[in-house]
Amino acid sequence: MDSHHPDDRNHTHVRPWRAIERRKSRQIMVGKVAVGGNAPITVQSMTNTLTSDPQATLRQIAAMEEAGADIVRVSCPDVDSTHALKTIVENANVPIVADIHFHYKRAIEAAKAGAACLRINPGNIGSADRVKEVIQAAKDYGCSMRIGVNAGSLEKDLMEKYGEPCPEAMVESALYHANILRDHDFHEFKISVKASDVFLTVAAYNQLADAIDCPLHIGVTEAGPLRSGTIRSAIGLGNLLWAGIGDTLRVSLAADPVEEIKVGFDLLKSLGLRHRGVNIIACPSCARQGFNVIETVAKLEERLAHIAKPMSLSIIGCVVNGPGEALYTDVGFTGGGAGAGMVYVGGKPDHKLSNADMIEHIVGLVEAHADTL
Ligand code: SF4
Repeated sequence: MDSHHPDDRNHTHVRPWRAIERRKSRQIMVGKVAVGGNAPITVQSMTNTLTSDPQATLRQIAAMEEAGADIVRVSCPDVDSTHALKTIVENANVPIVADIHFHYKRAIEAAKAGAACLRINPGNIGSADRVKEVIQAAKDYGCSMRIGVNAGSLEKDLMEKYGEPCPEAMVESALYHANILRDHDFHEFKISVKASDVFLTVAAYNQLADAIDCPLHIGVTEAGPLRSGTIRSAIGLGNLLWAGIGDTLRVSLAADPVEEIKVGFDLLKSLGLRHRGVNIIACPSCARQGFNVIETVAKLEERLAHIAKPMSLSIIGCVVNGPGEALYTDVGFTGGGAGAGMVYVGGKPDHKLSNADMIEHIVGLVEAHADTL
């Protein structure tokens, strides 16, 4: 028998051991999306198409939007990219962040093209005049900024001072860039201090959270392939989110960016911080199962991916845990004998259902329930 861990199930408020007190951050806007303060923690990802190919980029953005992306970032390495950015911004439904490295002209072009936010480190732009020009463009075109500190690309002087990437060096770098913006009376910025090492990431964010009140974009950078990267991100981001740190997140996977969005939401759902789509509770199955749990859950997950409204579904192999799990889910199915099981609605046994009909029937029930929400 397997013992199941109860999920959030919308009861966070009455269970103090599930309460997460979020760090109080200032709120900024990334286009129409609020980041920080009491705004929901947003999930973002980044395209990996050529930005200079707006059609391909927009197709990928649409797939990310479908999965629930709140914000999407695109790289702008050249003038063809910032040129295409205008079409991308005009046709995307989510705010677009332009990722700029060093080239101050790209930053100004991206701001003019309608980017909602510039990911740029002001200390890397160059002369004081250039810095001023970029900040002025951000002010003129209503762009916010993200300062993105990465353990792998710390400033030379900090590497000399600290010897290796460490939390102190990352926070010092972040504050250096932040102070440049503040000196120009620019406060619409968020910061990230990412490392591929979870210990370094968590320590750096913890120190930064104490040092500044701006919203934090959290992520474990270059986390790796789908499975191991998801686990690394879940440890790093889970730790931070549990401690109340993080206003927007990106899961960095060497995988389809749509997967990054899905993992981001699963992370938030697991901590009861945000609810989107059908939260499927399923047992791992064993010899007691009354139907093929693993196959059924895979099919249901695919068939129910289009539902954005938050609800829960339990698919449990037998009566050992089925009725107990169904108590806390909107719709439930528990396997029984003779090729049939019990459907639960609102926690109560509702009707019997043959295994052969269950996919269509449960999809119908879940869709109908989602329509009432
Ligand atoms: S079928 Fe599922 S619920 Fe039943 S005992 Fe096995 S793992 Fe637990």
